Amino acid sequence: MTNFESTEKILKARRQELAARISSIDISLQAPLSADFEEQAADLESLDSLGGIEAAALKEITAIDRALGRIASGTYGICIDCGEPISQKRLESVPTALRCEKCKV
Ligand SMILES: [Zn+2]
Repeated sequence: MTNFESTEKILKARRQELAARISSIDISLQAPLSADFEEQAADLESLDSLGGIEAAALKEITAIDRALGRIASGTYGICIDCGEPISQKRLESVPTALRCEKCKV
């Protein structure tokens, strides 16, 4: 059986980084808007993109949690569609991959 200890470490470090990013975004999102109307519009625009970054980070955290759960249960690295092992190369570039090269669309 393959040992995914280093993968687990990488995933956990990445998860921490994302969680830190989300909490700093939350602080910006809670900051009051500028008094000036034009600045308010700019503020709202940047809040919009921050929200997008936050959504992407949350999505990645979900994928990481899923991968960590699969490591714990011993199903990590196995394609959820065909049940074949996912190549080492693919797991290195996409550690949260659920499907093999053939099954990913
Ligand atoms: Zn597959």
